[in-house]
Order: sequence, then C-alpha cells, then structure tokens
Amino acid sequence: MIIAVASGKGGTGKTTVSASLASIWEEPLIAVDLDVEEPNLHLFLTPQIQGRREAHMEVPVADESLCTRCGACSELCQFKAISLLGEVLLAFPEMCHGCGGCLAVCPAGALTPGVRELGEISWGRAGDARFLMGRLRVGEAMSPPLMRQVKDQLNQMLAQTPADVIIDCPPGVSCPAVNSVMDSDLVLLVTEPTPFGFYDFELAWRAFSDLGKPMAAIINRAGVGDRAVYDFCAAQGLPILGEIPFARAAAEAYSKGQVLAQATPELNQAFRAIAGRVRELAAGAAAKEAAHA
Ligand code: SF4
Ligand code: SF4
Repeated sequence: MIIAVASGKGGTGKTTVSASLASIWEEPLIAVDLDVEEPNLHLFLTPQIQGRREAHMEVPVADESLCTRCGACSELCQFKAISLLGEVLLAFPEMCHGCGGCLAVCPAGALTPGVRELGEISWGRAGDARFLMGRLRVGEAMSPPLMRQVKDQLNQMLAQTPADVIIDCPPGVSCPAVNSVMDSDLVLLVTEPTPFGFYDFELAWRAFSDLGKPMAAIINRAGVGDRAVYDFCAAQGLPILGEIPFARAAAEAYSKGQVLAQATPELNQAFRAIAGRVRELAAGAAAKEAAHA
C-alpha cells in the first residue's frame, strides 16, 4: 500500500507525521521524500545513505550551422524553450520540459540531445525501513521531472523487495503536490485547527477529491484554534485518524529534530493508534479497488 502524506500548506506537521509513521511501521517499508524542493525527512529519520546518483533531463542542443531556419521547432514548442526570432535560433534549456518534440521534427538534424542536471536521488536505510529521496538542484525551477525519476527508482526498489510506502509529499495543491499523490492508495491530509490551516486544508481536499483517492485527516497541534476543520470533516464524511496534541513535549522534540513518535510514551501510543487506522483504511481501499479492477 502507498500512503501519501500531504498538506495544503507548509508547516502543518506533514514531515513530522511521515517520519513518525515510518519509525513505528511494523511491515516492510520504504519512506520516500518527494518534497524535492525542500526535502527534510532525512533530518528526522537520519538514514544511512547507501547510494546516490545525479538526475538529468534531455534537452535540445542546437547546431546553428545546420539549421535551415524552417521554424518547425519554434512552432512546436509550447513552452517557448526553443524559438526562432528572425534568423536567430534561441534555446532556453531551463524552460525545456524534455518532451523531445523539437528533436523529432527538425528536418535538418540541427538539434541533438543534451542534458540538464535536475538534482540528485539518494537511497539507503533508516532503521528497519528503506529510504529514498530526491533533492532538486539549486536554481532548477521544475520539480515534476525529478519527482518522476524518484518514482522510477521507487518502482525498482519495490520490484526488488515489495514493501509498503509512505510518501512525504510537497505541500500545497500545485502540480508537484498533485503529482506526488497520484499513485497512492490513501491520502493523509495533515492540518492544524487554525483559520489558515483550515483554509489550505479545504483547498487541498478539493484539489485531491478530483483524483478520487480515499482521504483522511490528521490534526496536528490539536487544542489551538477553532472547530472549523472538525466540522468540515464531519460534514464531508472525512475520517479524522488522530490528533497530535499542542504540547510542550511535542514542540521540544520537534526543535531537537526528534521523531515525535519516539519522544514520549504518550506520543508513541498516539502514533501507533494512527498507524493502525491508516493500515486499516488503506488496506480496505486497496481491496475495494482490486475488486473493481
Ligand atoms: S524538448 Fe520539448 S519542451 Fe524542450 S525545447 Fe524541445 S519541444 Fe520544447
Ligand atoms: S527545426 Fe531544426 S532546422 Fe528548423 S529552425 Fe529548428 S533547429 Fe532549425
């Protein structure tokens, strides 16, 4: 089963929940950090990194001496990553999405494949779990191509040894966040019961609802704010799988980079209860999908 831990905004405790669930998960597990723009799951799980590789994307390299200025590449590229301005051929590799279309349509063989570095993928072990993360190169604007390569790596790891997967997703509801929950069996939305938290929680619920994935909520910093998120979940039939109390012990553990589920017996118990409900819900959803297949 694949569990996507997501949130409408950053700072709600998404990584805290991912790390805690990973640290107490009883089945074979791969913990994945898909928040490639700002990965921080490793700060909590402190994995032993066993391998890493650079991730690249294919981009066109133009040979002006062969270019006939036909304009086919410029017309095709919807991202304007290659443009013919008068007689001048301009390539903007940082805007390229790597579709390869311009290379396919160039009649003169003036375009050849080059590479743009996207970032790095690394993997290893964090306790009993396997660990995988992507880190976007500083200055790189597009995270989905790197995320796709992290997912390819994940599929290879799963093919070697099957396991459950917990994904720490990028925050928000933009393309990277949606991309990160696409293959999951269950989306766990982490929020806090404040007006800001609720506003972004509702946005995320609406964005991910369109994907038809089973969803559930986890309330972090329970005890602050108001009841809006609780009322919303009740009205939508969205199960709340657990609450993490707004407590000094939790704040202290977080500030020291500790995994919350390991900080106190009470928090450990709370996360074990959440993990049990997550497993139940995800297994039920996976069984339902298999029955419909
Ligand atoms: S590979 Fe695709 S996105 Fe990149 S420049 Fe060519 S047509 Fe544009
Ligand atoms: S398609 Fe090839 S020949 Fe035509 S403008 Fe582009 S690079 Fe030049």
